[in-house]
Amino acid sequence: MVDRAHTPTPPAPTASEEVLSPSESVLLSVRESASRLAMDAEVVGLLSTSWREIRAQLPVRMDDKKLRIFEGYRVQHNGARGPYKGGIRFHPAADLDEVRALAMLMTYKSALMELPFGGAKGGVMCDPSRMSENELNRLTRTYTQHIHMVLGLQRDIPAPDMGTNAQTMAWMMDAYGQMHGHTPGIVTGKPVELGGSFGREQATGRGVAACMGEYARIEGIDPRDIRVAVQGYGNVGSWTCRLAAELGFRIVAISDVKGGIANPDGIDIGALDRWFAIAKSVAGFPGAQPITNEQLLEIPCDYLVPAALGEVVTIDNAERISARVVVEAANHPVTPAADAILARRGVMVLPDILVNAGGVTVSYFEWTQNIQQFRWPLERVNEELEARIVAAFNQLMARAAKDGTRPRQAAFDIALERVGQAIKLRGFV
Ligand code: GLU
Repeated sequence: MVDRAHTPTPPAPTASEEVLSPSESVLLSVRESASRLAMDAEVVGLLSTSWREIRAQLPVRMDDKKLRIFEGYRVQHNGARGPYKGGIRFHPAADLDEVRALAMLMTYKSALMELPFGGAKGGVMCDPSRMSENELNRLTRTYTQHIHMVLGLQRDIPAPDMGTNAQTMAWMMDAYGQMHGHTPGIVTGKPVELGGSFGREQATGRGVAACMGEYARIEGIDPRDIRVAVQGYGNVGSWTCRLAAELGFRIVAISDVKGGIANPDGIDIGALDRWFAIAKSVAGFPGAQPITNEQLLEIPCDYLVPAALGEVVTIDNAERISARVVVEAANHPVTPAADAILARRGVMVLPDILVNAGGVTVSYFEWTQNIQQFRWPLERVNEELEARIVAAFNQLMARAAKDGTRPRQAAFDIALERVGQAIKLRGFV
């Protein structure tokens, strides 16, 4: 654990550097926002580091009987507004700094959506696609044993993120329950059979599609005339495609780790899902032409939706993005320097802390349902999610119009104000 009193405040990064670490990139937006808001320097100092960071050694006996030692993290960034909340990422690039950056984003995401949570994130540096079900089960339990003391229904509530899913949450819930007694609300994004919420799996994609629909409405353009390219066909990307297609959007390109596909007339998502069930990739889908992941980002389209890894739109490709709107379904897919280029080119960026907040919003619904030992029907979950995300979207757009800022700036301004107020009211500074 890091003793905050002895952690130096990192130097303020500048937009001209493309070499910022993920947490420095997020801090850049935070510091810009803090200076627009003339925020108290002590509050900014507090928000510049994590409240607590755990780095744990996770020894796991693999199927070949060899012991492998993984590294796992739980970062709690700020809890002024409520219990820490945020997903667990299993990915080879999930190092401490990336998890720290994602924890910061959760603080602002929850604040922007007015959810009574602080921000946290967890991660294990591993490649789940190369691990068996049994190995993943053992790893998840070992990870839970190493962080259980900082979790709690009113302390810190994990959820799925990249590389984890409802099954991972079921293992976490079970491992936590063995130490503390049955506590379903300790994680969200659980299987419905174990107290998960209806609609949680689709929730992030539903929020993304709702933001796209709302922006199309503001633009006054029929979704049928909007060509969409989506990077990623995991949970977020695939549900975004299905739900955006339902709203009428024309999905012209999709990619995943194994490659991409394009069809200017629109991809039949139902047919693609049938292909994906067998091929385990969008690549090779007969109803489209093959493209690479790099080509997808630059393909002629109206809305570009990065829905996979962070930092995919950089100074190297920002000049060649042909979309007029970038919808940040992934966390932090556009670097600060790329963001400045897109702004200069008049490309609208709809920010991650709004666009992908559907997941944590339904996690909040799941947590409240668990506390009340009550279940909402799917219709109620979807209605409340859409109402909240559309309201936050319009609040953000109104703030941007009033202040003459871009949506990302307005999102951070609203969120930072709320977090700052909570810090002051509690008397932290
Ligand atoms: N991992 C998701 C996110 O980045 C969801 C977090 C949650 O539900 O707590 O927003």
